[in-house]
Amino acid sequence: MPELPEVEGVVRDLAPLVEGRTVKQLSVSDTVVISKTAGKETIIKGKSVDDFLHGMENMQVEKIVRRSKYIYFHLMKENQPYLLVSHLGMTGAWFVVDSPDEITEEKFRKHAHVFLEMEDGGLLVYSDIRRFGEMRLLQAEEDFPPLLEMAPEPFSDEALNHFLSMAETPKYKRKPIKEVIMDGKVISGCGNIYATEALFHMKIHPGRSAERISKKRKVLLFEEIVRVLQESIDAGGSTISDYRSVNGNAGTMQDRLHMYGKKTCLACDTPTKSKQIAGRTSVYCPACQK
Ligand SMILES: [Zn+2]
Repeated sequence: MPELPEVEGVVRDLAPLVEGRTVKQLSVSDTVVISKTAGKETIIKGKSVDDFLHGMENMQVEKIVRRSKYIYFHLMKENQPYLLVSHLGMTGAWFVVDSPDEITEEKFRKHAHVFLEMEDGGLLVYSDIRRFGEMRLLQAEEDFPPLLEMAPEPFSDEALNHFLSMAETPKYKRKPIKEVIMDGKVISGCGNIYATEALFHMKIHPGRSAERISKKRKVLLFEEIVRVLQESIDAGGSTISDYRSVNGNAGTMQDRLHMYGKKTCLACDTPTKSKQIAGRTSVYCPACQK
């Protein structure tokens, strides 16, 4: 699943290709039409396909930014601002092409679901193999309240104090630290890969409860999460299974991971263990992480 660094990579690739351009009209795949007609919320959330398609017509893309694991397209139509919020789910990917045939990997070509035709020619295509991605057309963040509950950006000044105070609340203090740091209301954008890495570097067992970690170590853990996220952004993200940046680009952070997906500990050679925490597989070294 794309985490903060991967989404940042998409935004950095997408922004120069799409900002300033206008969407003329758009269409969605038969798969989306059929499942939306059957009452499912496939990819297009909170609106009918028709309302989404008409709503997006003639939208100018002013700016594309990342917020946590979301891509925010700031849009403008008839002097009215709108926001298209895209979440890549497990396997979402954006392509900027002249024709869908230019999507080189067959699985992404075959699972292209949303096609935005630009006024100046060319297409912006959203492809999603497993269809867990989401797209919402809003007037503002307030129209979808979960967006307002997200923790501050991890690189912002208020993020550390937000994490420390949330980790002390009754809701979080007895939970496993890995579950706490992966919660988007506590820290924005840290998913399984980077939580696993940061806990390994800090020698903290993922199942240790938040209240059994001193404040000083929590500060160091937070700093380590930020460091790992930044290292991954610099490496273009981790290309694991079906993550791709725009037009199929790949990152190299997967070659720098120390614990995620490892069978033995790179530090001490002990076979790693894994444990389910908050529904996700947590890999750790039983010798190094206490
Ligand atoms: Zn070890």
